[in-house]
Amino acid sequence: MVARHDQATDPRLQEDLLQARRGTAFFARKLNELSDAELDGDSLLPGWTRRHIVAHVGYNARAIARLVEWAATGVETPMYSSPEVRNHEIEFGATLAPIALRHLFDHSAVHLNVEWRDLPADAWHHRVETAQGRIVPAEETVWMRTREVWLHAVDLDNGATFSDIPAPVLERLLKDITGAWHTRGTDTGLVVQITGTDLAFGDTSAANPTIITGPLPAVAEWAAGRGSHGIHATGTATTDDIAPAAPKWI
Ligand code: ZN
Repeated sequence: MVARHDQATDPRLQEDLLQARRGTAFFARKLNELSDAELDGDSLLPGWTRRHIVAHVGYNARAIARLVEWAATGVETPMYSSPEVRNHEIEFGATLAPIALRHLFDHSAVHLNVEWRDLPADAWHHRVETAQGRIVPAEETVWMRTREVWLHAVDLDNGATFSDIPAPVLERLLKDITGAWHTRGTDTGLVVQITGTDLAFGDTSAANPTIITGPLPAVAEWAAGRGSHGIHATGTATTDDIAPAAPKWI
């Protein structure tokens, strides 16, 4: 018998699962607001239509479900067999009929949710490997999915903004992004500060930093490489308050 409720017992993990499910519901809502014809329109990601976004988010759920299955069974099942396979899958998915594309999103989301629901409490600590080669506990799959659904709901470009994304998700996203900069050494002299808080990320010990400030949604949007509305920039790398492009993070 499979369980009809989550096996996870850690309250933090239960909260994280809720955030991922909320994000999935939000993405579904934005997708359902689009007509079939509108799926052909551009997304916010260069070179990708909305179809590409939906295909990517669908196949991403399947890939993450493979990691959860890995944690459950101990049988190694990578997210993607290669980056080429991942990219080919998205290109193919983008050509599907609208109804098939919508089913891909719905079914893959339900499947991932079932894998999460049935994963025994102790198996959430089992190690799996992400597509980037990071070794992480299965718990991390919840955040991986949360980030995808919230960000790509905005990328659908039909009204969702970073202000729709819950603050804890934005904060964790900023930590991820600035952490990636730090790992790559691309954050030298760059500091991001959230207005009205003592939150600061990046090269906070720099002597003459370029400082990016703004409300959390605006700073996260800029850091994620999706525009510079509502932020201010001061310091060496700026002229006339125009922010430099954020370093790449993915
Ligand atoms: Zn993505």
